[in-house]
Amino acid sequence: MSQTPRVAIVTGAARGIGAATARRLAAEGHSVGVVDLKEDDAKGTVQEIVNDGGTATAVGADVSDADQVSAAVNTVAEQLGPPTILVNNAGVLRDNLLFKMSEDDWDTVLGVHLRGSFLMSRAVQEHMVNAGWGRIVSLSSSSAQGNRGQVNYSSAKAGLQGFAKTLAVELGKFGVTSNAVAPGFIVTEMTKATAARVGMEFEDFKQAAADRIPVRRSGKPEDIAATIAFLTSEEAGFVSGQVIYVAGGPLD
Ligand code: NAP
Repeated sequence: MSQTPRVAIVTGAARGIGAATARRLAAEGHSVGVVDLKEDDAKGTVQEIVNDGGTATAVGADVSDADQVSAAVNTVAEQLGPPTILVNNAGVLRDNLLFKMSEDDWDTVLGVHLRGSFLMSRAVQEHMVNAGWGRIVSLSSSSAQGNRGQVNYSSAKAGLQGFAKTLAVELGKFGVTSNAVAPGFIVTEMTKATAARVGMEFEDFKQAAADRIPVRRSGKPEDIAATIAFLTSEEAGFVSGQVIYVAGGPLD
């Protein structure tokens, strides 16, 4: 089904899942605001999209800062048009066991994932409501079900599931859907950092994960991008308030 061209914003889109999602949404015919902490870092993804014949713009913003979020959304609206697709993807890890976790580690992770998704969604919803159409996808994680060393991250990712459902309830009457995608093990810089933290070679870490996953492989950023492409499509208008685990199998 061909898509009506829209303007999308993907946060944390300089690399990993965000970059793959930005490329995929551009391939669907959408113009994409590629948001990351530094504008320069976002330019690589923009260049890839442009090389493939798509339209994108790089915007630097910290999603946990209200003024920067507001400025970023205004920039995208001015350069590409009113955004009506939002992917809340920006994320960080500050893993530690509870007794060693600092308040800063807690605040940083909750700030980027939860506050960031809140600020971005609040800033973009006006454009969606005005258009009578919108799609919001927020990145949760299989860690929402609990994961050693990630009390901050699991809390944020579980929180995003309630966040996505509540936006679905509030914004549905304006033609806006909201869902959460919860990836399992996806090969990115984030999982490489986790391997380093637990003192394993990444290849061994990846293999150990693949052995536990029913489809016997680790995930790729494109696996998540494909799910997000569906949830942001025209035909997904009756799918809202859901959490889709994309993990190569059911979770325990
Ligand atoms: P990644 O490779 O670490 O990429 C995350 C991106 O977000 C980076 O470009 C990072 O920029 C950016 N970012 C961090 N803080 C930001 C902020 N305050 N404002 C704007 N951008 C910011 O991570 P990923 O693996 O692709 O993960 C993407 C999302 O999927 C995250 O929400 C993550 O929690 C979730 N997820 C990932 C997995 C997995 O297995 N990889 C599994 C479940 C869920 P810098 O490089 O400058 O820090």
